[in-house]
Amino acid sequence: MTTFDETTTARATFEVRNPGTGDLVGTYPVQTDEDAAAAVARARTAFAWWSGLGYAQRADRLARFAGVLARRTNQLAAVVHDETGKPYSDGALEVGLALDHLKWAGRNARKVLGRSRAGVGLLTFDQAASVEYKPLGVVGVIGPWNYPVFTPLGSIVYALAAGNAVVFKPSEFSPGVGRWLVDMFAEVVPEQPVLQLLTGDGGTGAALCRAGVDKIAFTGSTDTAKRVMAVCAESLTPLVAECGGKDVLIVDEDADLDSAAAAAVWAGMANAGQSCIGTERVYVHQRVYDAFLEKLVAQANSVHAGTDAAARIGPITMPRQVEVIRRHLQDAVARGGRALTGGVSAISGQVVQPTVLVDVPEDALAVTEETFGPTLTVAKVADMDEAVERANASRYGLSAAVYSVARGRELADRLRTGMVGVNAVFNVPRIPSLPFGGVADSGFGRIHGPDGLREFTFAHAVARQRFAPLLALTTFDRTPSTDALVAKALTLLHGRRRWQ
Ligand code: NDP
Repeated sequence: MTTFDETTTARATFEVRNPGTGDLVGTYPVQTDEDAAAAVARARTAFAWWSGLGYAQRADRLARFAGVLARRTNQLAAVVHDETGKPYSDGALEVGLALDHLKWAGRNARKVLGRSRAGVGLLTFDQAASVEYKPLGVVGVIGPWNYPVFTPLGSIVYALAAGNAVVFKPSEFSPGVGRWLVDMFAEVVPEQPVLQLLTGDGGTGAALCRAGVDKIAFTGSTDTAKRVMAVCAESLTPLVAECGGKDVLIVDEDADLDSAAAAAVWAGMANAGQSCIGTERVYVHQRVYDAFLEKLVAQANSVHAGTDAAARIGPITMPRQVEVIRRHLQDAVARGGRALTGGVSAISGQVVQPTVLVDVPEDALAVTEETFGPTLTVAKVADMDEAVERANASRYGLSAAVYSVARGRELADRLRTGMVGVNAVFNVPRIPSLPFGGVADSGFGRIHGPDGLREFTFAHAVARQRFAPLLALTTFDRTPSTDALVAKALTLLHGRRRWQ
């Protein structure tokens, strides 16, 4: 049975159902503006305590939290399965991938954020300069349902490690996962409500944005990010926006085609294609196009979607997403595209079979918009220049993958995305020291790594005068001879012609 904070004043409730079976798996309150404000007020007190604990103690608590997650992975994976429909093993994998981040963020926070000396110049030689990154205070985290553990923890953990308190509003499709995480965190941090839960729909998310938080960490679709940003603008609340993508996988003529095909199928179909960094477009060098396609279709046919125990792919979590997928597939076919496997006829209820599309024009919805289903469009390109050009033509820029033996690194450098995997997919998010995030319609700001820690802080610069300066500049007593000396010094320092 689910229990709630006694402080809640919510009257309305909402139900969560297993997308595979339709079974009711939980009922939660739709929390209001007042609930959000009360949670943020409690978080202020918790912040004062938590930030005062210091880096080492916070790292210890986060490591203990990782321990709880590791020991109870199956329990959490079951909640993930019940709410999203994804296979248990995928839920467990997701939990496992979050653990490294918990430890990394805790262990590295002091090194990344702690006060460090900054260099000074000739004219500021009298100064001792330093910078420290201080926690913002209370961070509101708004998360999606597709990776309901890994994705919000990417913000929560880094915000906590930096010393902030967090109020977490999970998607209305995965509040039970949010509840579980918050309850387990309270076991290792029982003293104060350092991590709190708010449940509800988009309105509750908007309430959190208006509740006086010091930053919002939003993960979700680009359209919702724009609405969130508009609300945040009213109070100048800063925002990190991790949004959708239309990731590309490029296959060069010298690529290991078996690996590339297996990667494309996994990155495109796993989690029923409901991955922000899921591959949706594949561009293949003309010399290996036919061979690659044959392997790709064989690989796609080796997995099926369903709710049975053998299914490696679960149902689509949100009923309305099935209509988006159907629309993209219908549009592709209407414009001359062909489904080599799967397709519109392979949609049954909320189950969508792996679909490989070819001959789809570049302006079709299946190429331009985020489909968020187990579908891939595959196109032949004359060379890698064309592949890069088509890849970069997207309005999104989250992540990408390149399969090439000789040119992987070079091609990766030319892709305008926040992340690129070379001869591997989904590898960047697994490395805690690397920043996670995108450009353009994929959002801005970063979680994970040093950038992810700094995202939840403000830079605090201090310069201390160590002795009286040789040239007193910031005084009305400055003399003409001082000005002349400064002019000379500046010319010496910066005025030299390049060719001299
Ligand atoms: P949504 O944009 O529908 O929702 C994201 C979150 O925002 C949910 O918690 C949602 O609540 C909440 N929300 C909705 N409306 C508002 C509002 N007006 N104000 C504040 N919060 C609001 O995304 P999905 O949950 O459907 O997630 C899928 C999307 O997330 C995809 O586009 C995917 O690419 C992206 N994503 C991006 C990732 C990244 O790191 N770049 C990672 C994972 C997913 P509720 O659900 O209750 O409506």
